[in-house]
Amino acid sequence: MDTIDGSAVSGLDVRRPGDAGFDEARAVWNAMVDHRPALIVRCRDAGDVVAALALARREGLEVGVRCGGHSVVGHGVPEGGLMIDLTPMGAVRVDPERKRAWVQGGALLGALDAATQPYGLATTAGNVSHTGVGGLTLGGGMGWLARQCGLACDNVVSYEVVTAAGEVIRASADERPDLFWALRGGGGNFGVVTEFEFRLHDVGTRALSVELDFPVGGAAPTVARWRDLAAQAPRAATYTAGVHDGVVALGLVWVGDPAEGLAHAAELESALGTPVDRRVEELSYLDLQTREDSTAGHAVRRYWKGHYVTDLSLGAIEALLATEPGVRAGLQAYGGAIADVPDDDAAFSQRDTRFEYVAATGWTDPAEDADSIAAARASAARLEPFASGVYVNVLGDDGAAGVQRAYPPAKLARLAAVKAGYDPDNVFHLNQNIPPVAA
Ligand code: FAD
Repeated sequence: MDTIDGSAVSGLDVRRPGDAGFDEARAVWNAMVDHRPALIVRCRDAGDVVAALALARREGLEVGVRCGGHSVVGHGVPEGGLMIDLTPMGAVRVDPERKRAWVQGGALLGALDAATQPYGLATTAGNVSHTGVGGLTLGGGMGWLARQCGLACDNVVSYEVVTAAGEVIRASADERPDLFWALRGGGGNFGVVTEFEFRLHDVGTRALSVELDFPVGGAAPTVARWRDLAAQAPRAATYTAGVHDGVVALGLVWVGDPAEGLAHAAELESALGTPVDRRVEELSYLDLQTREDSTAGHAVRRYWKGHYVTDLSLGAIEALLATEPGVRAGLQAYGGAIADVPDDDAAFSQRDTRFEYVAATGWTDPAEDADSIAAARASAARLEPFASGVYVNVLGDDGAAGVQRAYPPAKLARLAAVKAGYDPDNVFHLNQNIPPVAA
């Protein structure tokens, strides 16, 4: 029997500072985050999560919930608190006949894609396979399939949740519809999700990526043409733009038959004119889903700022092209199936946005912290006058003001009321927090 200040924790896999595996378990994606929990509980099932919450309550410890560890500010790892480590819960089960996947709360996107693709199936996941299904899906979940199949959260059929009171409950359209509504975009505020049930789609296994490089000087009319074509693009295409050190890469990612993608890309190429460089790649969907894994890898210091942009005016384009040196700024198109869902159907907000913008920096020398952060902030500040809100999953150190940008006031009030029902003491506050307000 193991004890902590006299309290039994038998049966739990608990790691304390100095224990083997403690430092590995607290390390997250952003090397800027160096939080040291008092205890890490490596949970194997919902029962362990219930026990971990009871232990935190008994010891008076703040609770953090960690899945993929990709929160840019390390929300999953509580300094001096109890970390509910879901990473041992990474299993994915697929029923190809019913087109369903049951995904444990600590799974990474790569496990979901690897389990579904052998059947030519998939559901929307993000662009980097070491991101957690947990945080990504609870905040919405944007990926290359979203314009065809909706956001990750639009494809969740049911959730298994451990509440702050330690109950294991389910939420679906029929069961606790208030919680089901809040879990689709409201983040990790409402409990620990121990299982997601996803709807899967026949998307095949093939994809295409097209990137055309232009010098930023004089590129504004080219970007405007790319923007106009993005508005009419088929749902298989997600238009992308990236600016880095004087070059803008305009293109698209296509999920489906590459021949159809190439035909569409030919229209884009003829509209944009001759690039200085051109990268056209047919690849498998699994390769598409992992190709950014190294450039977006661990052990690098990171900072980013994001916006939603609905009106990509000439002014906004000029602001994008003026991205600071060293910063990678990008746009990813929304629309399609994302915008089909009525705004009231789920907590996820601002479905009418045209583009998601992120300005990101990565560096290794702590001496560069201030300059790198300032460069990302300056780039994003140029776009701010043209912004129309923000995606909750790109918020970092933005605090309550960030949450207010992510949800309109009526949604925030409804979310706060659901929070009051399921977590009245705000046990789950290490997230983009929605404090409880009784309705
Ligand atoms: P964690 O830090 O483990 O968790 C993030 C938050 O979610 C924490 O508050 C945590 O407590 C909570 N949480 C996690 N799992 C659970 C659970 N099971 N139950 C309750 N609460 C939970 N977003 C996109 O939409 N599309 C992308 O393509 C995309 N690409 C990304 C690429 C990289 C390299 C990174 C770093 C982020 C990316 N994101 C993307 C943003 C990503 O969705 C968020 O950072 C998300 O919060 C990460 O979730 P996580 O589980 O990995 O992180």
